[in-house]
Amino acid sequence: MKTKIKLLSTFTLMAINYLFAQDPSCNGIIQTSSLTSCPNQSVSYLNKYSLQSFYVPNENTPVKVINVNLHIMQREVPAPRGNFDETNTGQVQFLTDLFNGTGGINYLFSHLPAPSDPVTCVCVNACHIIDSRIQFSLNGIYYHQDNSNYILDPCDAGYTNITYGINTQSEINIYFYGEQDATLNGCATTPSTNLAYIQWIGIDDAIYTYPQGFGALVTELSHELGHNLGLLHTYAPTCCPESCTTTSTDFLSDVFGSGSVDCPEVCSQDYGWSCDIYSSSNSCSNNLMGGTNTSGYLSPLQLGRIHRETQLKSLRKYMSCELGSIDWKITTDEVWDFDIKMYDNIIVNPGASLTASCNITLPCNGKIDIKPGGRLILSDNSSITMATGSFIHVEEGATLEINNTVSGKGIIFDQSGTNYVKVEGTLQFGANADFTIQGIGYYHF
Ligand SMILES: [Zn+2]
Repeated sequence: MKTKIKLLSTFTLMAINYLFAQDPSCNGIIQTSSLTSCPNQSVSYLNKYSLQSFYVPNENTPVKVINVNLHIMQREVPAPRGNFDETNTGQVQFLTDLFNGTGGINYLFSHLPAPSDPVTCVCVNACHIIDSRIQFSLNGIYYHQDNSNYILDPCDAGYTNITYGINTQSEINIYFYGEQDATLNGCATTPSTNLAYIQWIGIDDAIYTYPQGFGALVTELSHELGHNLGLLHTYAPTCCPESCTTTSTDFLSDVFGSGSVDCPEVCSQDYGWSCDIYSSSNSCSNNLMGGTNTSGYLSPLQLGRIHRETQLKSLRKYMSCELGSIDWKITTDEVWDFDIKMYDNIIVNPGASLTASCNITLPCNGKIDIKPGGRLILSDNSSITMATGSFIHVEEGATLEINNTVSGKGIIFDQSGTNYVKVEGTLQFGANADFTIQGIGYYHF
């Protein structure tokens, strides 16, 4: 019983101690300048591709799988491990179950709970999306005996990541630090427009949740993953609240209300680990980013934010190779002056044009299919990055126009030998176009 009481007090403190950091002053990581300097000013971007509402998932959205690793920081022998122990099968199973077990993180992200405080004046009868279409693949659990890293603050996980991170450009590394203050603390990065930015999570005292606190650790880690996916807190005044400005692009009207007379804004919300989410006398909710112990809900716009970041920001490089089943149709003239990773085939319809002026990354086994009368234009400094199995098909009567004059850009095959460009229509080069075959693949004219 004594242990149980300790656990309860531990978790009472936990919400207050939720931490999160992105800026260098807090996590000690200095972000390098952006690798891409695309304008992000086109009408297509401002009115469509930058909007959370455009990406709200449905049953046709591909399930996107994020690759993660778990690292357990232990004391060095002969001291006791002071953390999860790889020789303890119960503890190893506990860690595995965090993602894949009953009531684990993957279950939560595919069975999101209904909102305790639905903002029906915004999302009407569609406030509850059950399946986020986000899942996690736990690729490895690693144990490290290292006294100095053992005691680090979770917000210093960027340092540990330099030494122990596995595939840091394709897998998110999560660090469980040791016993520090018997209080579960978390810290995570948010996605960056700098695609090289390395994301991570740090958590300390997770060992205290073994074995009775499984649900609390799932909640805590899911919350930190929520930061990794691009979400901030629905509460204040602690670190990192969401914007309360209704005109902000990322304002969450389906969490806070639209701010109209009939739909008043409540921003930020109340919080507290044991705050009653169903009480009408407070604004606590069960939002995953709301800091209460029964949290798990994500609103449609929060989910839209997540899926936008999987396409536009550093989060995207941690995704497994997915191809959606629904085509992404270009039906009018669009200019893509932003850097985007696709999870669907792109179909350029008859009479429509897609002008690429930044970078488009195709999904594995995906394609750009230009229909008769359609046009794909590669303007200056643009590139199309092909993933394994992807190709470009210019149908009869369609046009591929290459105006790129910058060496190293253009159509970039990978090294798999599976990419190709098939032109049955018109291939047109602009003056001074620089056309270099890069990677392994072939052109079929
Ligand atoms: Zn947080």
